[in-house]
Amino acid sequence: MLNHGWSMSALALSLAAVVVAAPWEDSAVQADDHPTVITPGLGAAPPSDAIVLFDGTDLSAWSKPDGGAAGWEVQDGVMLAVPRQGPVVSKQSFGNIQLHLEFATPSKPQGSGQGRGNSGVYLQARYEVQVLDSYENETYPNGQCGAIYGQHPPLMNACRKPGEWQSYDMVFHGAEFGADGEKTRSATLTVFHNGVLIHDHAEVTGRTTASMNGEGPGPGPLYLQDHGNPVSYRNIWLRELQ
Ligand code: MG
Repeated sequence: MLNHGWSMSALALSLAAVVVAAPWEDSAVQADDHPTVITPGLGAAPPSDAIVLFDGTDLSAWSKPDGGAAGWEVQDGVMLAVPRQGPVVSKQSFGNIQLHLEFATPSKPQGSGQGRGNSGVYLQARYEVQVLDSYENETYPNGQCGAIYGQHPPLMNACRKPGEWQSYDMVFHGAEFGADGEKTRSATLTVFHNGVLIHDHAEVTGRTTASMNGEGPGPGPLYLQDHGNPVSYRNIWLRELQ
């Protein structure tokens, strides 16, 4: 009988082992942790959860850095940098984001090097991803189109011709700071230029030259540079990341 009892226990144990845990039971993911449903965009349309900063109609999401009216123009659904009107900044500030925008450098290129189709996209008004006409226009590598200015050249030169629309898609995580104010983690950037990976989770070592904001905790606006060249922008939207 004793032996029989042991056999029954062993059988119960082996049956229990056959009951496989549900895939979610061994992870932090719960069975009801369903990802939020959004409607993705098609073509130029932003996804349903995007914050649209420019849809072709007006500059209501933008201002000058001092809060005055943005000095750029809207022409035919395009946002145009007006030389010497200064930069524009988004009225809203952001932390970690996914960003999409499109730009075109002047179709009749003038100047050379850094003087040709220069603008820039500054995350949190701190870190510039360079906008430049780098189509058959050489300059220093960490200052060419797609560079994290002064720090990282793009992995590839994926530039289109002057006047043609180009896209940037970015994933940005801001720097983190401890309670003592010391930086504990650098900002990072992943960037696609015209669909080509040009920064793969690159570490941004500090603010880039001539940025409006220094490094620090907290969010910052999106800042588009006036570098004296009439660069065009359109379809600017972002998604805030947790
Ligand atoms: Mg620039």
